[in-house]
Amino acid sequence: MDYDVIVVGAGASGLVAAIAAAEKGGSVLIIEQKEKAGKKILATGNGKCNFTNMYHTPDCYRSDDSTFAMKVLSNFDNKRTLEFFKRLGIVPMNRNGYIYPNSEQANSIVEVLLMECKTLNIDIVYNEKVIETKEPDFTITTLKSDKSKAVYYAKKLILATGGCATPKLGSDGSGYLLSKAFGHKIIKPLPALVSLFSPDKFCKIASGVRTGAKASIYVDNQFLMEEEGEVIFTDYGISGIPIMQISRYASRALDEGKSVYLILDLFLNNTLDELIGMLINRCNNNPDKTTEQMLVGMLNHKLNYIVIKETKLIPESPCHILSKSDIISLSKMIKGLKVRISGTNTFDFAQVTSGGVKTSEIDSNSMESKLKKGLYLTGEIIDVDGSCGGYNLQWAWSTGYIAGSHAL
Ligand SMILES: Cc1cc2nc3c(=O)[nH]c(=O)nc-3n(C[C@H](O)[C@H](O)[C@H](O)COP(=O)(O)OP(=O)(O)OC[C@H]3O[C@@H](n4cnc5c(N)ncnc54)[C@H](O)[C@@H]3O)c2cc1C
Repeated sequence: MDYDVIVVGAGASGLVAAIAAAEKGGSVLIIEQKEKAGKKILATGNGKCNFTNMYHTPDCYRSDDSTFAMKVLSNFDNKRTLEFFKRLGIVPMNRNGYIYPNSEQANSIVEVLLMECKTLNIDIVYNEKVIETKEPDFTITTLKSDKSKAVYYAKKLILATGGCATPKLGSDGSGYLLSKAFGHKIIKPLPALVSLFSPDKFCKIASGVRTGAKASIYVDNQFLMEEEGEVIFTDYGISGIPIMQISRYASRALDEGKSVYLILDLFLNNTLDELIGMLINRCNNNPDKTTEQMLVGMLNHKLNYIVIKETKLIPESPCHILSKSDIISLSKMIKGLKVRISGTNTFDFAQVTSGGVKTSEIDSNSMESKLKKGLYLTGEIIDVDGSCGGYNLQWAWSTGYIAGSHAL
């Protein structure tokens, strides 16, 4: 079977790439290894699909080449995404800049994309995994679920296979092998937007506690970046949006054998001096309360206990025996609890992949490979990962649309 364009992967970038190519009038086939399209899209934004964001700055995207993502986005940005989806029927809902379909159902996004594929006569085959691509042009071999093989031919090939994150939803890393066969270099794929492991026992003690905090990441004792939001303590370590946001840096640093720790500010609304003053007052006003009782109402009670223990104070001792330097140390602990990081959760629990096909081998104007004419790469397979907030889907839509419209 011959096609002008074959797209490998009916995920976010693949569906849009196919639509953009078919709009130009060519014959398009999508090959998908799962039984249906857009399985990962359905899981996004807790099933509501945060499909883009009104705010875009270069630091929303991370890569070995920090300039590549914004070059691509200048060719198809969040406004183009909104126009594209509005044209397909999606009414956007803006929640503080985070954009969702007004239906609050990720399924709406998949449905409008599939309806458009049907309108444009795009063929889709399911339950077939692309296992090999050969010359001439692109001769593509697939393995079907019954173990039989099929062969397809295309003038242009778009690899939209995703990365390694959450493989049960389809992206199992096989796209890297297909890219390597064309000579592409792969920056080691590592989990990103993922929770972190800590050897510190207090994480387990605080398991289940959610608290507003600022998390600062230190690599080899050097401050790297900070994020604020709701931090969640777990049996194995620490999670929550700010932790996910900084996780890709922990992932890469640990892989390079560097030491990683976080400093948590658990009392955001007051400065250290204000906190010291507050604790001195609380001790003076209630000298017979225990140190732990003195903190009641300030932090979650499990955290009160932990910060006292980590300061090497005794929770049961009355606060009138606390010295000023004890109170200063306790305040510093509340505003700077150190959490050592020993690893990240696995790809099974990661929302995206950091690493992937090297960006210097891809033309940012067309998404065409610089190594193989007629080959295009889109979405998470490329060494670009976005922050939480709709940026990874924006990356998928932008790269998909650009690749599809240049393939024909
Ligand atoms: C739980 C979760 C929540 C998320 N929430 C958000 C969010 O709210 N906002 C946001 O912006 N991003 C979110 N993301 C990230 C976002 O979903 C991905 O970055 C995006 O879907 C990547 O698009 P893609 O086209 O590169 O790959 P995918 O959407 O992963 O699609 C790749 C497709 O290729 C198929 N495939 C792979 N290899 C082959 C092969 N060899 N042969 C045939 N088919 C193949 C796969 O089965 C899959 O269908 C979330 C991710 C997860 C896991």
